[in-house]
Amino acid sequence: MAIQETPQTGHGRVSRRDFLKGAGLAGSVMGAALLIPGCANGAQAATDGNDAAVTDWWLPEKWDRETDVIVVGTGDAGSPAAIRAFDAGAEVLVIDKNDFFGGCSVLGGGNCQLACTHVQKEQGIEDKPEWAFEDQMEFGLYRSNPEVLQAWIDNSDAYATWQEEVCEVEWAKVSLQEPARVPRSHQANTYRDQPTGAGIVFSMHFFEQLEKRGIEVLLQHKMTRIYREPDGPVLGLEVETPEGVINIKARKAVIVATGGFKGNPQMIRAWHPAFDETLIWSGWPDVLPTGDGHLCTMNIGGGVVDMSFIMEFSGRLGSRQYVRWDRPHFDNPSTSTGLPNGKLDHIVFVENEGERYLNEAGWEAGHTLPWLPHMIAFLNIKGRPRMEWMVTDQAGAEDAGWVKFEKAFTDPDPTVTPCIEPGWVAKADTIAELADQMGVPAKNLEATIAKYNEYAAAGEDPDFERPGPLYPVIQPPFWAARWCRMTHDQCTGIRVNQKMQVVDQMDQWMPEGGESKPISQEKVIPHLYAAGECTGGTGGAVRGSGKRGWYQVHGYIAGDLAAKETALA
Ligand SMILES: Cc1cc2nc3c(=O)[nH]c(=O)nc-3n(C[C@H](O)[C@H](O)[C@H](O)COP(=O)(O)OP(=O)(O)OC[C@H]3O[C@@H](n4cnc5c(N)ncnc54)[C@H](O)[C@@H]3O)c2cc1C
Repeated sequence: MAIQETPQTGHGRVSRRDFLKGAGLAGSVMGAALLIPGCANGAQAATDGNDAAVTDWWLPEKWDRETDVIVVGTGDAGSPAAIRAFDAGAEVLVIDKNDFFGGCSVLGGGNCQLACTHVQKEQGIEDKPEWAFEDQMEFGLYRSNPEVLQAWIDNSDAYATWQEEVCEVEWAKVSLQEPARVPRSHQANTYRDQPTGAGIVFSMHFFEQLEKRGIEVLLQHKMTRIYREPDGPVLGLEVETPEGVINIKARKAVIVATGGFKGNPQMIRAWHPAFDETLIWSGWPDVLPTGDGHLCTMNIGGGVVDMSFIMEFSGRLGSRQYVRWDRPHFDNPSTSTGLPNGKLDHIVFVENEGERYLNEAGWEAGHTLPWLPHMIAFLNIKGRPRMEWMVTDQAGAEDAGWVKFEKAFTDPDPTVTPCIEPGWVAKADTIAELADQMGVPAKNLEATIAKYNEYAAAGEDPDFERPGPLYPVIQPPFWAARWCRMTHDQCTGIRVNQKMQVVDQMDQWMPEGGESKPISQEKVIPHLYAAGECTGGTGGAVRGSGKRGWYQVHGYIAGDLAAKETALA
């Protein structure tokens, strides 16, 4: 595959400013044209009382290049989409704004949830479509769109076969990763001789197949706008490249596979006002899941679903990185970071003011949902940026397994596994010195620990009702590590139907007879598909650890159908 950082062809460039100048009142007219279904098209509206040059304002001044299908994103959704579209006969161009291949998908775990496959059958696992449907509905709190969920089930086995026959994946043992009647988590065996069973294995296989087909992948190419004819089909993209802005025409379709918006605090706040800018996202600083696909799609009338409902959190102790500093790549797969955070019997949690704010025993270090008690306790922290420190003494540090990482406390280094950062850990002979290192008021922390020690002696915690046994924090040296909560996953986003076509939000205006219709009958934006974490509606309200199965199946569906669209002139 020719992975290019800049386009190969020497097309002239139309700068964004030039284009906008030429388009005159484009922005406001587009809004009007899209908001009033059936009104005169934008070109007509724009020419009334304005400049004739704005006819066809929805088009760029010129196309710099063209292809049949543009896939935006090289992750789990975009990669299979590109391969499938190519194999179905389309000319395909893949773009990605990042400077490496694979997005979040090269960082994630390797569980790929699929239902009713021959792989399960060969391993003696009986599965049924209705079980898969019911299990996922229950797990996702009944917020899946039934038809979209069913599309994942119906295509799972064909996808598993495609992975074997086309991508040369060998499936390993299917395991049970989240509550379900039967195991459904499919993992790919290690890639060739690479020692990993992690998610990057899928990316390696996809990369190989893209390369084999000579599908062009342009890195550092960022979609900034989708061109759509008013009330009509998508026509192409505006793309920022290191050499300027270009316009690429898509004769058949655009497939948006841009991942989530967990790295865009403004978008998170817009849909979940309690969160603030102090959040970090898993994959920081390597990946930039900033919701570009959502925004570009909404800008042309694309629907979204359940946007405020889902934002899952995970985190790291003493580190802001979810995976180690030198981003995982094909020769050097992922390693987790941070101090052990699983054994917390001796640990006291304090916030910005050095005061306790939750029942530590209710703490769950893993994936957390905003409505769980400890997340509510986090959201109630008044100080900014919100700090959550775990404090203990020598006995507690030994129990928690921190002592063997002592060097990370005395000489924290974010570039060395476990990637502990200066300012995110503390160790001192007194509580007051510890507080100074943590940046919390020493008097408060001393009072908090003294009070907690009294509770430990009495065997009762009247403040938060932490169940016993309660261990006092008395044996120096004292240790502390700051918890970093990270936005980790989203099951929400662009609204697609069972074919991964983007539903036209404007069709929700004045439904005929006020009657509800299934998503399969809703109007779509012609020639626009979306797949992967940028979409919502498949898994409902809880992510599970195997959602890359949904995303790969999405891409598999979208790529094939996009290639079969009738090409625009
Ligand atoms: C550290 C980490 C661990 C994880 N662990 C798990 C796990 O164990 N299990 C699980 O199910 N999930 C896990 N996930 C989540 C999972 O990896 C993602 O949900 C999945 O990979 C998303 O795939 P995707 O193809 O939709 O998006 P991505 O893989 O994020 O790909 C999107 C691509 O689009 C590109 N892009 C975005 N905007 C633009 C634009 N404007 N123009 C051009 N390109 C653009 C991005 O650069 C990126 O390469 C993890 C994620 C991370 C970061």
